[in-house]
Amino acid sequence: MSRPSAEVLNQSSELVDYNLFSTHSVLVEAAAREGAAADHAALTQLGAELGSVTLFTLGDLANRNPPQLRACDRLGARRDEVEFHPAWHELMRRLVAAGLHTGPWAEPRPGAHVRRAAGYLMWAEIENGTQCPATMSYGAVPALTQQGQEFSTWLRLLLSREYDPAFAPASGKRGALFGMGMTERQGGSDVRTNTTRAQAVGVGGPGREYRLTGHKWFFSAPMCDAFLVLAQAPGGLSCFLVPRFLPDGSVNALRLQRLKDKLGNRSNASSEVEFDAAYGLLVADEGRGIPTILEMGVYTRLDNAIGSAGLMHQCVAQAIHHARERRAFGRLLAEQPLMRNVLADLALECEAAVVLALRLARAFDMQHDEGESRLRRVLTPVVKYWVCKRAPAVCAEAMEVLGGNGYIEDFPIARRFRESPLNSIWEGSGNIMCLDVLRALAREPRTLDALAGLFAGAAGRDTRFDRYVSALLDDLRDESDAELRARDLTQRIALAAQAALFLTHGPAPVCEAFLASRLGAGPPAAFGTLPRGSDFRTITSRALSP
Ligand SMILES: Cc1cc2nc3c(=O)[nH]c(=O)nc-3n(C[C@H](O)[C@H](O)[C@H](O)COP(=O)(O)OP(=O)(O)OC[C@H]3O[C@@H](n4cnc5c(N)ncnc54)[C@H](O)[C@@H]3O)c2cc1C
Repeated sequence: MSRPSAEVLNQSSELVDYNLFSTHSVLVEAAAREGAAADHAALTQLGAELGSVTLFTLGDLANRNPPQLRACDRLGARRDEVEFHPAWHELMRRLVAAGLHTGPWAEPRPGAHVRRAAGYLMWAEIENGTQCPATMSYGAVPALTQQGQEFSTWLRLLLSREYDPAFAPASGKRGALFGMGMTERQGGSDVRTNTTRAQAVGVGGPGREYRLTGHKWFFSAPMCDAFLVLAQAPGGLSCFLVPRFLPDGSVNALRLQRLKDKLGNRSNASSEVEFDAAYGLLVADEGRGIPTILEMGVYTRLDNAIGSAGLMHQCVAQAIHHARERRAFGRLLAEQPLMRNVLADLALECEAAVVLALRLARAFDMQHDEGESRLRRVLTPVVKYWVCKRAPAVCAEAMEVLGGNGYIEDFPIARRFRESPLNSIWEGSGNIMCLDVLRALAREPRTLDALAGLFAGAAGRDTRFDRYVSALLDDLRDESDAELRARDLTQRIALAAQAALFLTHGPAPVCEAFLASRLGAGPPAAFGTLPRGSDFRTITSRALSP
């Protein structure tokens, strides 16, 4: 008979069954400030649901049981289907029911994008694969809406709150989801190199039928009902709506070759696909493919930033919770001076990410305002770049707070760490975002005025900030070697925007620690270097109330 296992001592409890919203005062304040104050009760309810052990378990199950490609049936006939674990479907059902895919389009009102952003941020704390089809559907709506009534049937299904996983023609479904296909083997950032061809069946033009032949090297969430796909038409690179089924009910010729074996994001299927004269409808004019699909891309970039902020926050919350319960060298880790510095520095980085991402979401709510619209144009790549870039560093440091347990898959941070580099890579990798910042500033000079306006709101309150912004604006006006300096400039815009938000809205301890630690020598190479006198306890508690 084996010996009963030794008593378990000094292990922290599991951080589950808590409210993701009400314990995160940074998010509560930012959501209210940026326009979603009226949604406080709904977000509190969502925070309780998402923080439940049920949701944590579903997230783990969906990632431990990745989707399987069924390319053919047992007799060799094509199926081109992907099978998911029931946990994936349950997560998708809840996500869609909460309107975290297309809610702001279904119920447009002031603050709708900020409300969704707060919910999406909390969802990112729990599961990230499901966010891929949610985000692509969110972005598909404005791209299709621009085409008038042409795609109204699809739009109605996209706005539905019902998740319908059936592999069946959309005409008989209660809801639909969209994906996108741009990246080919020879180029993802430079989509002008796309080789997939599109030929009109009869007379071409917007809304008309084409046939697509070629491939996509990355094609995520292939069980979506339809996709916006780039292909070369006679008039140039164009955007097509490619559904999984033809109007006559037959399966469209999207041949799924294999699923990618990914570092993270394992609950979600990312496929390689061949188009074998696949049916597609032209969206906008031939040659307008890039601007059309970029309308979708802008929203997905917002989501990348919000998602990374959520991912970081969950790792930091887990670290804080662990340190409050684990003892070493005679006292709790959370009371060890050096650990207090590490936790506060992580919480500060996280707070800066959350406030910046939600500020950007407000610009999406206020697109009718010219200044906000310009701010959105330049801030989207800035925030996508900087917040996504910070995620792996924050998740890694939070993992270390859990010691050896942090590296083990039974504990919550390992999966989230593996997830953390992704948002920076897809939908425009880091360099592409920085080059886009330059493009935005060069194309419309008043974009720089909008940025300067954001900083001006906080001017005159702190000389460190005033000096920082003045040098930054000078460097932004200097066009020499701009590409070479694009990362430096983008990072500094992000830091100046975060500092401006803290100076305007506080709280003072956070603002002081940020100005002292981020504007001088730049962001820390490793966390835990806040200066003496920082209010460590207050900063940390804002990420997870005690
Ligand atoms: C898990 C996953 C799922 C994905 N799902 C989809 C999907 O559903 N649909 C889809 O279309 N795509 C998808 N992608 C593809 C993704 O969007 C591309 O991988 C990304 O856009 C980069 O393209 P690439 O891989 O061809 O790299 P490249 O374009 O070759 O870029 C390589 C590197 O070079 C840099 N670079 C490129 N040009 C320049 C330049 N001018 N100056 C300086 N640096 C430059 C880039 O920033 C990048 O770091 C997915 C990717 C992943 C990892």
